[in-house]
Amino acid sequence: MISKELENDVAIVLLATKYQDDSAIIKLAGKEGIFSLIAKGVYKPKSSLKALLITGNLLEIDYKKSDSGPSFAHSCRVILDASSAYQDYQSSCFLLFLQELTNALFEYGERLPYEELLLIIRSLCEKKDVLSLALLLVGTFYRRLGINMSIDECVKCQRSDNIVSYSLQEGGLLCKDCLGQEKVKNHLEIHVFRYAFMEVNEKNVNRIVPPAEGFKVLNELVLYLMDYFDLKKLQSFAMFVNALSVK
Ligand SMILES: [Zn+2]
Repeated sequence: MISKELENDVAIVLLATKYQDDSAIIKLAGKEGIFSLIAKGVYKPKSSLKALLITGNLLEIDYKKSDSGPSFAHSCRVILDASSAYQDYQSSCFLLFLQELTNALFEYGERLPYEELLLIIRSLCEKKDVLSLALLLVGTFYRRLGINMSIDECVKCQRSDNIVSYSLQEGGLLCKDCLGQEKVKNHLEIHVFRYAFMEVNEKNVNRIVPPAEGFKVLNELVLYLMDYFDLKKLQSFAMFVNALSVK
């Protein structure tokens, strides 16, 4: 193993997995893609690497890279502290869901929608609407994974009038004439569906979807995603759904 100078990167903590006695393998999302670091002794009481254990934290990390074998975290500085989000039950469940979903959908080396993810986590810490943020999160993952949805016009005839439904299988909105076997949906559901696929920006993270329809659409989007990629049941999603309905 050839040691090199310290490398430096800014990244979001996705997942910490315990490794040996008091160390952990940390999965991180940087601008260039997902990578991992070993945080040696991170579970020792006085470790200066503790911030690497919190999913959602944005950190500047110095680490030692080796040509063969793992890289080791050397030190880290917190840029965005996500720990405040864990004081709220819904937000904690959101972060668990985020952790499990990213882990299921994205491999090492792949790129997450980094800027979008960061804005969503920041908004979560600012106590913006959790359900709305979850919809934007899932929508941005759809885009990143190449599942495109037509939200401005009918996916079949490209007309934008008389939109009465949508279908995930068909890939977007449906007008009255192209409805086929699909059921008519109410305008709030259609509104929420459109919202989920909007750009993740400062304006959209401040919007609040109607809870009943938001809940319904989120459920549909996540189930379709699990089905599409043949994922096993996401336990954290059931928890998250529960937390949302407790409100
Ligand atoms: Zn049509």
